[in-house]
Amino acid sequence: RADAEKADLAKTDPEKGRAAGDEAIRIEGLHKSFGDLEVLRGIDLSVRRGEVVCVIGPSGSGKSTLLRCVNLLEEPTSGTVTVAGNEVTDPDVDIDEVRRGIGMVFQSFNLFPHLTVLENLTIAQRRVLGRDRDSAERTARRNLERVGLTDKESAYPSKLSGGQQQRVAIARALSMEPQLMLFDEPTSALDPELVGDVLAVMRALAGEGMTMLVVTHEMSFAREVADRVVFMDGGAVVEEGTAARVVGDPQHARTREFLARVL
Ligand code: ADP
Ligand code: MG
Repeated sequence: RADAEKADLAKTDPEKGRAAGDEAIRIEGLHKSFGDLEVLRGIDLSVRRGEVVCVIGPSGSGKSTLLRCVNLLEEPTSGTVTVAGNEVTDPDVDIDEVRRGIGMVFQSFNLFPHLTVLENLTIAQRRVLGRDRDSAERTARRNLERVGLTDKESAYPSKLSGGQQQRVAIARALSMEPQLMLFDEPTSALDPELVGDVLAVMRALAGEGMTMLVVTHEMSFAREVADRVVFMDGGAVVEEGTAARVVGDPQHARTREFLARVL
């Protein structure tokens, strides 16, 4: 396993070892353009292991593109992205291996409609991780319990509320036992009364020490849970700091304007 070796090598190299130990994500000088449209204009951002970082900012500011560059759903135009010590922008990296360590939850839940909840949680464990049915189902049930949906394992997604579907999507990601979770506006598509249950699951996950990079408009979640808040506008990080600082006492006019609209 080239990547396992690389990870071991990183641990023994004092410089890289520190990065591999403490830094879940390091983004340096990240640029992304779609044709003539420059969407990310030089992003620098690090996330330490166990840290919860919330990214906020207006629609079109590049938040989703930033997240998608972390697991190479988008290919950066320039700059580097390093996940757990592995530079994912290195052309020689085994990107499938890196992606296995990263869970992603989208605004649209993206469950397989023709599979039951349990099958949604076991399919990638079996196909990607090569787990047998028993072990995949044990892991799936453990994670359904974490999101409070043990009684839904035989249901099809269409029979579930949006909030339940999103919790299944979170349980599915967790069943792959990722080192890191990316959330892209996980509650934006939900009816307001269903948002709380999803945020509660995310809050519990943060409490367990999961490393999380979360794009959200839920300022109360950011205030309570985030170790750090990053405000993006126009493809750049305008300011970052604790939630108390960025949300409670923003320094930039653009941050203040944005918060005035969402709070
Ligand atoms: P946000 O998540 O902050 O709303 P996005 O990262 O989705 O912002 O989008 C930033 C900009 O990039 C938008 O102008 C969007 O239209 C553009 N964009 C995103 N993905 C693509 C794509 N695949 N092709 C062309 N333009 C894109
Ligand atoms: Mg987005």
